Amino acid sequence: MKTFVYIDHFKGDVQPASWEALGLAKSFGTAIALVFGTGADDVAKAALEYGADEVLLADDSALTDYRAETYASTLSALASSHSPNLILLPTTARTREMAAMAAIDLNTGVLTDVSGLEANGDSFIATRPIYEGKLIEKTVCSGKPVMATIRGRAFPKPNREEGKGGTITKVAAAGEAISSVEGYSAAESAVNLGDAGVIVSGGRGVSNNPSLTPPAGMDEKQAEVWRAQQGFALITDLATLLGGAVGASRAAVDGGYITYAHQVGQTGKVVSPDLYIACGVSGAIQHIVGMRNAKVIVAINKDPDAPIFKVARYGVVGDLFQVVPALTEAMKKKLGK
Ligand SMILES: Cc1cc2nc3c(=O)[nH]c(=O)nc-3n(C[C@H](O)[C@H](O)[C@H](O)COP(=O)(O)OP(=O)(O)OC[C@H]3O[C@@H](n4cnc5c(N)ncnc54)[C@H](O)[C@@H]3O)c2cc1C
Repeated sequence: MKTFVYIDHFKGDVQPASWEALGLAKSFGTAIALVFGTGADDVAKAALEYGADEVLLADDSALTDYRAETYASTLSALASSHSPNLILLPTTARTREMAAMAAIDLNTGVLTDVSGLEANGDSFIATRPIYEGKLIEKTVCSGKPVMATIRGRAFPKPNREEGKGGTITKVAAAGEAISSVEGYSAAESAVNLGDAGVIVSGGRGVSNNPSLTPPAGMDEKQAEVWRAQQGFALITDLATLLGGAVGASRAAVDGGYITYAHQVGQTGKVVSPDLYIACGVSGAIQHIVGMRNAKVIVAINKDPDAPIFKVARYGVVGDLFQVVPALTEAMKKKLGK
C-alpha cells in the first residue's frame, strides 16, 4: 500500500496533523511525504524523521506562496505519475481547497475531516463526525486514489527520530497561478486552539464575582467586562501552568470579555484536546458540539443542574473564583512548579 502524505506548512511552520497523517500512512505501508514551497528543506528532513519512507520536494518559486491552482495541480500531477493508493492531508483551510481541486483532476473524491480510517481490501472506510458531531458517519470513496483530509488530534503523532535520513527527491511544480499574494499581516491574535492538548475555557460565569470592586468611574457594562478580565486572568494562569490555551463560550465573546479567536463551538472552533476545563460555561448544545471530542472534560459551575455536567467526566459544583485558583495551586504543587 502506497500513501502520499501532504505536509501542510506555512513558511516552514508545519501543521502538526501532517505528522499525525504520516503516522496513519505508515500503519498502512509505505508513506511518501509531499513537501511544497521554497526553502522547505527542513520540513522535508523533519518528514523523514517523523517516519516518511521518502520525500518528494517541490522546491519551486511557483510554490513560494500557497495558491490553490499550483498546489492542487502539483499534487494531482505527482499522484498521476506515482499512482498512490491513498492521499492523506491534514484538515486545514488550504487543504480543503487544494484537495477538492486535485480530486477533480484525478476524477476521484475527497473524504473530509476524517477521525478514523481503516483499510478494507484496496478501499478504505472513513469515520467522520457530521451534523456538528451529532452523528458519526462511515463513508467509502469509490474513486481511486482515495483522498482524505484528517482531523487534527484524531490520530496519534508518531515519535520523531532525530537525524533519521532517507531519500529526498526534487520534483517540479505544475499548473499556472492565476492569483498572486500581495503580502501577509499577522492577525490580532494567534490562538491555536485546534492543536492545544489542554484548553481551559471561560463562559459568562467569569464575570460573576460581585465581591470584586471595579475601579471608580466605571459604568455597569465596563464593570462587568473588568470583572470578566479578572476571571479570565485566573483561567489564563491555569492554562499557562498546564501548557494549554484559553477558550471561551460565545456569551463571553459577545460580552466583550475576550476575542472571537478563543470561541469554542458551533460558530467558533471545534477542538479535541486531551483535557478541556470549562469554567462558568452552562453547556449549551452550540458550545458542546465544539468540545465534546475532548478526551477528558472537567466542569466547574455554581449550578449543579448546569447541562455541562452531563458531558463532563469530572464536575466541581462551586464558584470558579475559588475553585480555579485552588486548582492552579494544587497543580503547581503536583507539577513541582
Ligand atoms: C446559531 C447559534 C450559534 C451559537 N454558537 C455558539 C458557539 O459557537 N459557542 C458557544 O459557546 N455558544 C454558541 N451559541 C450560544 C449558546 O446558545 C449559549 O448562549 C452560550 O454558549 C452560553 O454561554 P455561557 O455558557 O458562557 O453562558 P450562560 O449560559 O449564561 O452560562 C453561564 C454559566 O456560568 C455559571 N456561573 C455563573 N457564575 C459562576 C461562578 N462564579 N462560578 C462558576 N459558575 C458560574 C452559571 O451557573 C451558568 O451555568 C450559539 C447560539 C446560536 C443560536
